Amino acid sequence: MEDCLFCKIIDKKIPADIVYEDDQVVAFKDINPAAPIHLLLVPRSHVPGTNDATEANQAELGHLFVAAAKIAKEQGFAAQGYRCIVNCNQDAGQVVFHLHMHLVAGRKMGWNPA
Ligand code: 5GP
Ligand code: ZN
Repeated sequence: MEDCLFCKIIDKKIPADIVYEDDQVVAFKDINPAAPIHLLLVPRSHVPGTNDATEANQAELGHLFVAAAKIAKEQGFAAQGYRCIVNCNQDAGQVVFHLHMHLVAGRKMGWNPA
């Protein structure tokens, strides 16, 4: 989608530190990391947010978890643990309206959803 930051990253029109990609998902480092490891996993399709999840895109959105598990194992933090976060709309603080999973790891986390 034109004028979507994450579509531009997926299409390699703007740079990002991509750590994993396959036919359904692209994962890259968050520009403003909240932890030693902070990745963003995005579906290749432009799905604005969780409210746009449907039967038609459930395989692609479910694949975000498959990719998260693969990355966690590859990067060696699967056993230690990590957090997967998806923000939806203003109350959750979503600022980029291409659905993305934050994959956060590398430190002990408290319950502080901010
Ligand atoms: P949200 O608040 O929408 O769930 O998260 C958006 C995330 O995108 C933020 O953590 C922010 O740091 C990250 N971000 C915003 N602009 C860019 C960018 O241009 N490149 C990368 N790699 N991350 C970005
Ligand atoms: Zn997009």
